[in-house]
Amino acid sequence: MANPQLTNVRPLPFRTVAGGLLPLFDGQSLHDPMDDSHLLHLSNQLQASLDLDEILSQFSDEIKPYVAHNYLGYTHEHKSCAFSTGKNGRHRLSYQLSLQDERLGKLVLSRGSKFSKKETQEVEQLIGALLYPLRNALLYHEAIRAAQKDALTGAGNRAALNEALGREIEVAQRHGRSLGMIIFDIDHFKKINDTYGHSTGDCLLKALTHTAEDTIRLSDQLFRYGGEEFIVLLPETKLKGVKNLAERIRRNVEALDCACEGNHIRMTASFGVATLNPDEGEESFFIRADKALYKAKHAGRNCTRVAD
Ligand code: GH3
Ligand code: MG
Ligand code: MG
Repeated sequence: MANPQLTNVRPLPFRTVAGGLLPLFDGQSLHDPMDDSHLLHLSNQLQASLDLDEILSQFSDEIKPYVAHNYLGYTHEHKSCAFSTGKNGRHRLSYQLSLQDERLGKLVLSRGSKFSKKETQEVEQLIGALLYPLRNALLYHEAIRAAQKDALTGAGNRAALNEALGREIEVAQRHGRSLGMIIFDIDHFKKINDTYGHSTGDCLLKALTHTAEDTIRLSDQLFRYGGEEFIVLLPETKLKGVKNLAERIRRNVEALDCACEGNHIRMTASFGVATLNPDEGEESFFIRADKALYKAKHAGRNCTRVAD
């Protein structure tokens, strides 16, 4: 495991801050380092990837010879990422990770038997090799997420929609599951912009996004397709469920009393819904839902229509 050419290089430093269940790693050492070459090898291994799951899974495998564990879990409170491998046990080691004041999330190891003091010290040293690769992976994760988000509303953008739609259709068809789509569009939005100004229009777009996001389930995904048009993808949802959700969003949007720049403004939206037909492609699925939206506009707006 050792890399003889690199044994002179110091392992990444770290320090445990005493205090209850959650020691804090912030980069300075209290313990004698284990063999530098092992830590360096581990650090090099982990730095080869920017994929969070891959890094954590590899970390779990690589540290097993030093600290046997049945479970490794990781969460980051703000970056909505989580990872776990194995089965949780009764005894846990739990760490809040940080590097130069930057919080890097929480790491938990567990197993059925107690961890010895030596093992605890070794885990702490090994975690030192995880910090930099983990921070790089988090930065990468964040950059990817930002590139998939609409800047104004925070909903998924068009690129994210294209990717998700292809993926969800493939999953639905492979497993014979249903997939729902809702397209909705704010009614007479141009008039709202003309009356109150563009920044009030932006404020409404944000309010509508919050409302839609609060209404959908965790497994549903919301995207801003264009100006004032949005799409929700609903995995494993039959037509009745898709229709019900569209109606719930519609009613919640209608009930919104938006305080934007000193004005209280109300808006409505029109909805088209569809479920994926067997062997149907992205384009046809989208066009059917969009036609249903068109029907809703023609039926007088602020209503939901179902695709043929
Ligand atoms: P309909 O009920 O038929 O949908 O009418 P509408 O006025 O909503 O539709 P139309 O397509 O005529 O107008 C859409 C408007 O949305 C025009 C455009 O200025 C506005 N819009 C598009 N993107 C944005 C944005 O990012 N911010 C703001 N404030 N307005 C936007
Ligand atoms: Mg509109
Ligand atoms: Mg429109």
